[in-house]
This record gives sequence, structure tokens and C-alpha cells, in this order.
Amino acid sequence: ATPMSIAVASGVGATNGILIKQGVALESLSRVTHYVFDKTGTLTEGRLQLVESFPAEGISEQSLLQIAASAEQQSEHGIAKTIVSAAQQQNLTLLNISAFYASPGRGVEAQIDGDKIFVGTADWMISHDVTLNSQWQSKVDQLEQQGISCVFVASEQKLIGILGLFDTLRDDAKTMIADMLANGLKVTVLSGDRQQVVNSVTADLGNIQRLAEVLPADKRQVIQQLQQQGDCVAMVGDGINDSPALIQADVGIALASGTDVSIESADIVLSHNQLSQVALARKLAARTLRTIR
Ligand code: ADP
Ligand code: MG
Repeated sequence: ATPMSIAVASGVGATNGILIKQGVALESLSRVTHYVFDKTGTLTEGRLQLVESFPAEGISEQSLLQIAASAEQQSEHGIAKTIVSAAQQQNLTLLNISAFYASPGRGVEAQIDGDKIFVGTADWMISHDVTLNSQWQSKVDQLEQQGISCVFVASEQKLIGILGLFDTLRDDAKTMIADMLANGLKVTVLSGDRQQVVNSVTADLGNIQRLAEVLPADKRQVIQQLQQQGDCVAMVGDGINDSPALIQADVGIALASGTDVSIESADIVLSHNQLSQVALARKLAARTLRTIR
């Protein structure tokens, strides 16, 4: 493309809140064959809601939430922020923690009053010798089938309850993806969440690939594998964990609601935080490059 046509397209992008950091990103975008989307905060609104709470016997709902929120107070994950603000809404005071450790894509560990608290995935529980009986498993299966993400809470080696969080699909996701599929593009959703939750939340999105339970550290590798299969890949994300994947992709697209880190790693930033801007950027790139040929 000529510098002139790129400048014009960048200008049109900017008026629509699409910040193209370098002209070459537009050229790469016109060659993309495979769009990869993060789930939470990208395909979904990123406004997680605490919708379920199941304390173990002898534990009150309030105490479950208070302990979970206390352990999560230093985490910047969306799940943590939701749990903390739910506790604050109920006027629960956060307990002091004396140690904190976060494992990306798995959960957190904190010390409260000499007790080791774990909040996170089933794997995170199992790796700390917390036993999950079949009663819990059937409850979790039920929730996951409705697209509700389950977070386990344990004190020492004992499960004290589970919390269910829900996030709705953005209303422009379906149209955007239908349009991509109709244009022969491949689409993948890449998530750290459970397969059943990913399937349920994206059920309306048609024939896309759904990759679940991918740890943050492995997301970059998934992009690389698609590239090795011959795809030109655009990654659309918002989370701090997505940076390596955004960098690995041929085009990294960040939603502006995301963290500073992911915005820095991106080639294109969508400042209105709307998926329809992805569609617009795609058309802008196609139009610009076609004019030149
Ligand atoms: P996503 O791909 O949806 O952004 P992540 O890779 O960040 O998800 O996390 C994957 C899973 O790990 C979450 O669904 C959650 O179960 C668990 N997890 C990660 N961080 C936390 C946390 N701070 N508290 C509780 N659970 C967490
Ligand atoms: Mg994320």
C-alpha cells in the first residue's frame, strides 16, 4: 500500500476510535485468515457478576464471601475484583492477610489468621491436596452447563464452598463472528476457563473452534501453532495475561478497557471497546489494500 492510502485509512480508523499504531498493521490485517478471541472481557462484557454461592456445612454464606474476598484483595484478576466488590456491597470487612501468592490461570493463595486459604480452579485445589467430593462435582457440572464459572474456596485442606460467576456475551459478538465465518475466515475462542463454560457462553456463535483451560503461559504457543499451520493470525484480547499472545500474533488487537500492558503489546487499539470496531478495522484494511493492487 502507498503511504498515502495508509494515512487515509489510519485517519478513518482514528475517527472511529481505532488506533492503528503502525501502517504495516493494516497490511497484516488484510492478510489475516484466522481470528483468535479471548473470552472474558473480549467476547463477553467483562462485567462479571457473583450469581451463586454454596458454602460447605457449618459455614455461612457471608463468611465464605468474606474469606474469599480477603484472600483475593491483592489480585487484579476480574474474578478477584468481582468477589471483593460483592463483599464490600454486603459491608463485610476484609480480613488482614499475611502472605499472598497468585498463580496465573489457576488462583490465589493467602494466609489469614494462620490459616492457608486457596481460591481458584479445581486443579488449584487438587494441587494443594484439597479433596473435592462428588456432591460438589455434580453442583459444579450443573452451573457450568449454564455458562457459570465456578471458583473453589478452601481453608487449610478443606473446601469451605464454591462461588459462581457469570458474564454475558457482548451483543455485537454474534454478528461480527457470523460475518467473519461467511467471509471464509477461521475463528477461535481461547480461554483459561472450563470447556463446558466456554461452550455454553459461546453456544450462539456457530462453527468456531473453542479452546478451553489454556493456561496464560500457553496462549502464545497456541497462536504459534496456528501460524505453523499456515494461518495469518489476529489475536483480540484485553487481559494482562494475553500480552505474549498479542505479541506473537501477526496482528495484536487490544480492547481499550484492557490493562496498560496489553495495550502496549498491541498493534491496534480499539478505544471505544466495541467488537464492531474489529469488523470495521477488517473492512478498512481490505478496502485499503485492494485499492493499491
Ligand atoms: P481467561 O482466559 O478467561 O482470561 P484466566 O486464564 O485468567 O482466564 O483464568 C483461568 C481460570 O483460572 C479462571 O476461570 C479461574 O477459575 C481461575 N483463576 C485465575 N485467577 C484467579 C483468581 N485470582 N481467583 C480465582 N480464580 C482464578
Ligand atoms: Mg483474560
